[in-house]
Amino acid sequence: MKEKFICKSIIFLLLFSVGGCSTCNNKARLEKEYMGASYPSKPLNAAKTMRVKRSLHPMPQELRISDRSYEIPAGECALKSSPGASPKEKQIIDAFKEKWQAEYNVPLKDNDGRLTIIAGVVKNSPFLQKAADNGVFDAKYLSEQPNREQAYNITTVANNGKLMVYVAANDNAGLHYGLLTFKQLLNGLSKNQELTLPHCRIVDWPDIPERGVMRGARTDVQMQRMAEMKLNVNHDWIWMSVSSNRVISYTGNSYGRGNRDRFLAGERNNIKTIPHVVHMDYLFSDGRGMEKFPELAAAGKTGERIYGSESGRTFCYGNPKTQEVMDQMFAAIAKADLGDRLAVEMGESPTCCHCDACKGDARKHYINEIKHIMHAYQKARVINPALKMDIVLTQATQPHNYAILDFIPKDVGVIIYAGNGPNETYKTTFGEYVLTPQAEEIVSRGYKTGVWVSYGPALLWNDIIFPTYMSQFTKLRMSEIKDRGLYYGLGWMDSCFNQELNIEAFAEFSWNAGGRTDAEFIAAWSQRKNMAEPDKVAQVIKTLEYPIWAMASGMRTRTMTRSVERMVSLLNGENPKWGPYFEILNGFEYHNNEELIRVNKKCDEAVTLSKELKSNELIASSLLVKQWVAIIERYAFFLESKDPEKKKAAREDIIKLSSHLPKLCKNWIDTQQLDESNYKASQGGLNAVMKEFERLKNNPIESLHLK
Ligand SMILES: [Zn+2]
Repeated sequence: MKEKFICKSIIFLLLFSVGGCSTCNNKARLEKEYMGASYPSKPLNAAKTMRVKRSLHPMPQELRISDRSYEIPAGECALKSSPGASPKEKQIIDAFKEKWQAEYNVPLKDNDGRLTIIAGVVKNSPFLQKAADNGVFDAKYLSEQPNREQAYNITTVANNGKLMVYVAANDNAGLHYGLLTFKQLLNGLSKNQELTLPHCRIVDWPDIPERGVMRGARTDVQMQRMAEMKLNVNHDWIWMSVSSNRVISYTGNSYGRGNRDRFLAGERNNIKTIPHVVHMDYLFSDGRGMEKFPELAAAGKTGERIYGSESGRTFCYGNPKTQEVMDQMFAAIAKADLGDRLAVEMGESPTCCHCDACKGDARKHYINEIKHIMHAYQKARVINPALKMDIVLTQATQPHNYAILDFIPKDVGVIIYAGNGPNETYKTTFGEYVLTPQAEEIVSRGYKTGVWVSYGPALLWNDIIFPTYMSQFTKLRMSEIKDRGLYYGLGWMDSCFNQELNIEAFAEFSWNAGGRTDAEFIAAWSQRKNMAEPDKVAQVIKTLEYPIWAMASGMRTRTMTRSVERMVSLLNGENPKWGPYFEILNGFEYHNNEELIRVNKKCDEAVTLSKELKSNELIASSLLVKQWVAIIERYAFFLESKDPEKKKAAREDIIKLSSHLPKLCKNWIDTQQLDESNYKASQGGLNAVMKEFERLKNNPIESLHLK
């Protein structure tokens, strides 16, 4: 394909005479013909070209911007679609016209204008077919790109006093993405209704076919934002309820907004909303359903029911009734009319059923579980024959995955959860490739395979108490998913619009893992946010990512509160409740105190640079991260030091440093647009952490038994 691209590039150079092609004999003639000699153009310098590139999100796979641009009033633009367009195609074009009207306050005309956009699916459009025949773009090359249904081509042509833009796609999804990119091309240099279009050509397609998030969009506006980022799936946790006469029904999604409205909102935005079962045996959310089906609950080692307790939360798959109940659950989902997709996570209970039939055999437990799921799925397909399912393998199934696969037909997708839980079966370590080798094996067995990437508890639970910038992490994970030929790239950030850099990084690198460096991505992101000096912003955020991710890893005890509980217990000479879960500084991932001193200094650089930038958000972020790093540094010193006096001093330092956290955290929260539930979560998280630090004050230093 690379060779072919070079050939096409030569044709492209000939046709469009990209700046720098000084060896081309025909340059002058071609410029006259194609570069706007008969249409007024303006030079595009390097800085402006950079602005245009940074307005593109995600970065297209193949992009050539010439050294010319055109200026057109928004009111003089038109879109010409084909009479043969399909209903979905028409809907995409109408949506684009609506957006145009909303943004520029003038309609996008039909047919011809000073700028005419010819947009559509090639096979339905004689205009695009003719353009392809004339060599304006290469329809065959476009049709051969990966994930072709999502691929598109944009070509500008300035000729005979007319300016044309061809947005050509193989299918509807590609048309949707092509129009989004065209709009982004205008965003870079336009001022209000005075549009500036760079002369360019783009051929683009996504690296990963299905890109989306778990519990991502909570509102329709967020759904639209996801669509604008070219994400195409949104998984929604769903719950079941049971009536008093044991009839199971679909309750709704995790935001209490069930039924078809979510599904339809997704449809409107070209996003598949996928009902997602969070662990098969968790479906009766808090165990209330189990009161109606006591016979299903697994038995503990001494025969006690363990459903809903800390030691386990699972079904007994040895009980013949279990299948019946699961069939009912799947039937209820199929009847809820939520589209043709379903994702089912297998169990993750620390204890399996110990009844006489199950005997606590984990392998047997998970094989039985998958058999039950497949049976229920086949029965649900009687209700909805189009229903497709993806199985999500968990940390608990990991040792048995190959055995489980034997019971999964090839038309069912397989998704691996890459979290950072206690079992450490799949890691989310910073800075290295970590995806389990099982992924490639599962691909080679013929499954559509994917990974759920966990963004760590800092973006999941009640610990929104420090910033999480994860662009490098995202680039690494998405590169890995692409390199291993996986079909689904999914992220778990809850909610993904809290600290939006992460969802934008996810959208960027799941579409094009190799297009930008993470620093270039951050610079582009900050330009889109109208921040000053994007390259310096990138420097600050890149500096902060390493300490931030290490802090997030430190929360593998689930929450920062637990990590701080452990820290305070050790500082107080008590036995910690949580751990010893991770040896290195309770999982804060720094191997020694010296490294922390270095990290602390890097945070100083971030603070200084943020102040130069006068960015309130970055100042607040870097001061807060620095404070946490300073605390962890003193903690590491305390653990390493043998000198009782120095240990006492370090402990005093932690008391002092932690007392500033509430103010620093508040300053940072004030720069964030948290929704109400996330705001409450951040307050709750901070209060809980501070309560732990309070225990340091209440414990007189003299009473410590310092070794
Ligand atoms: Zn059992």
